Amino acid sequence: MIPVTKTFLPPQEEYNSYVKRAWDKVWLTNRGELTLELEDKLKNLLGVSNLIITNNGTIPIQIALKLFGEGGEIITTPFSYVATSAAIVWENCKPVFVDINPDYLTIDETKIEAAITPKTTAILATHVFGNPCDVIAIENIAKKHNLKVIYDAAHCFGVKFNNQSVFNFGDVSTCSFHATKLFHTGEGGAMFCNDAAIFHQLYYSHNFGHNGPLAFHGLGINAKISELQSALGLAVLPYMDHIISERKKVVDFYNNNLNFNTVKTLKIRENTEWNYSYYPVILDSEETLLKVLEALANDNIIPRRYFYPSLNTIEYTKGEKMPVSESIASRILCLPLYVGISEADLKNITQIINTQTS
Ligand SMILES: *Cc1c(COP(=O)(O)O)cnc(C)c1O
Repeated sequence: MIPVTKTFLPPQEEYNSYVKRAWDKVWLTNRGELTLELEDKLKNLLGVSNLIITNNGTIPIQIALKLFGEGGEIITTPFSYVATSAAIVWENCKPVFVDINPDYLTIDETKIEAAITPKTTAILATHVFGNPCDVIAIENIAKKHNLKVIYDAAHCFGVKFNNQSVFNFGDVSTCSFHATKLFHTGEGGAMFCNDAAIFHQLYYSHNFGHNGPLAFHGLGINAKISELQSALGLAVLPYMDHIISERKKVVDFYNNNLNFNTVKTLKIRENTEWNYSYYPVILDSEETLLKVLEALANDNIIPRRYFYPSLNTIEYTKGEKMPVSESIASRILCLPLYVGISEADLKNITQIINTQTS
């Protein structure tokens, strides 16, 4: 089977050598030495000032919303993974959707101000497929209306915008280290911020609110990662250049071989150093998409309908109509993209798509 993605696994001995340190110390969680080492290495690699590793990429969104959402209206994108909207509803806030830009697939910043009401507390936008939102425009809107900005940057490991990590934008950015993501710890994630006071809030929130063993700064939850997961992260980390350059080759192949008279792909925002995290193709209709899916399935090639459905159409979000997002969600497909996919498979995939769409 050719899946949409395949988890990169480092040599098992390299993972074991990190796990041995946890065994030797008999220390499996609560910010042990492997977690601290991974945080340090990530800070240096990414060029960020504050980062906290967490046990997945959803809980940092929930923590940020718990701190800044205040049960109000959260302006958000309908085109993302379900975790973005679900976190808003889970934290008893109300998602207020703003449609997306049809080329960049990120929230349409020109429509945000019209959606702001006295109940709006924050903007939660996704850098979809690692493509940054218009972070400068959004920052200006947020300042003008005194709103917090949270970025779901789950797809953004290694992405730079204006020569710095995209995680440096917004009041809080979050990332996922899930096994299907570029850099992973099996399950895991992180939250990033620049402000020292916000960092303090995020920090205690992720560890039950503790202020030492006997006192509390405030309300908290358990978002800590285990040493076994951090060991995996430490073993994957040295391969990130390799992972990104191998993925670039796959992206280059698709770019050079798909027929762009009949399919469209993502437009990467200007001044972005991208990470080749996903390869979406947008077809002319859902009918064509279903035809392409069937032809690929005949050869045991299983891409994914990322992202479908448009999140405003989910029963519990109670969203208004979002014509651009709903249209794109109905006819977008992410193609297989991972380290080790063969050129023969890529040829076959592009041939099938070109034939089915011509
Ligand atoms: C993967 C993903 C998440 C959730 O991350 P987990 O680590 O699986 O909790 C959130 N948002 C987006 C856009 C994602 O792709």
